[in-house]
Amino acid sequence: MAGAFAEMKKEVLPKDYPNILAHNVNVYLLEGSNHTLSAMSPFAQKYSEKYLNKMGVIVKTGVFVKKYDGENVVLSNGETITSKNVIWSAGVIGNPIGGVPKDLLLPSGRIKVNRINRVEPLDSVFAIGDVAYMETEKYPKGHPQLANVAIGQAKNLAKNINRIMKENNPKLKSYEYRNLGTMATVGRNKALVDLPFAKFKGRFAWLIWMFLHLMLILSVRNKLVIFINWAWNYITKNSSLRLILLDDDMDV
Ligand SMILES: Cc1cc2nc3c(=O)[nH]c(=O)nc-3n(C[C@H](O)[C@H](O)[C@H](O)COP(=O)(O)OP(=O)(O)OC[C@H]3O[C@@H](n4cnc5c(N)ncnc54)[C@H](O)[C@@H]3O)c2cc1C
Repeated sequence: MAGAFAEMKKEVLPKDYPNILAHNVNVYLLEGSNHTLSAMSPFAQKYSEKYLNKMGVIVKTGVFVKKYDGENVVLSNGETITSKNVIWSAGVIGNPIGGVPKDLLLPSGRIKVNRINRVEPLDSVFAIGDVAYMETEKYPKGHPQLANVAIGQAKNLAKNINRIMKENNPKLKSYEYRNLGTMATVGRNKALVDLPFAKFKGRFAWLIWMFLHLMLILSVRNKLVIFINWAWNYITKNSSLRLILLDDDMDV
């Protein structure tokens, strides 16, 4: 997101709002851990930060946001950044529902489940995806909150429930997450790909990211429309993303 804003500042702002001087606009990325993309490899961490710096994003790692009053962002290192725009992207929290035993609820709102996603000791209550906290040998602190995990757990649980309904003594299959790789894009021609057997960056990584996302979008018509859009944006550098900025005294 910080990369996208940096690109908008460079490409869109001067065209659409020539009266706003781009050099007066700063994009900060505030990250509590010591690296950007901390869930990815050290390779991806190093290059994502390099890319962001190159794009003019002011990256501050190892700092937490302590307070924001609508004007000033106060950081854990005592620094204050003045800004009316703060985008909070520090994760999601589970929506608690009644009836779940308190000792199975984590502070993050995740619900502890066993290897078949059952909320033990409740016999017929299951939790899957982001809200499920399952400890395995490979993931002793629970799985990453990713779409693939949610889809995988849903498929595995559906099969297990079928077995429970059809068989007297069903043999249930434990869920196992197979990480096929992780990708992140920072900006135009700038992406990081971590595969179990290789790690790469730059334009090639960005093309792979685009290709896979295109393939995951459902219908052929959608794929075609998005491909044409992306190709047009790439050639013209004219992103369809738009900023709508209002003057303070505008009566809207
Ligand atoms: C900004 C962002 C970017 C992400 N990017 C990626 C990515 O690139 N790749 C990736 O793999 N994952 C990504 N994720 C994570 C991914 O979206 C989640 O892991 C995935 O959606 C989890 O699926 P889920 O079904 O568990 O939860 P959700 O998709 O969150 O679905 C839960 C649903 O339950 C509904 N709900 C909540 N409470 C109740 C209630 N009491 N009653 C009824 N309904 C309720 C919610 O409205 C929601 O629709 C991203 C997440 C975010 C926030």
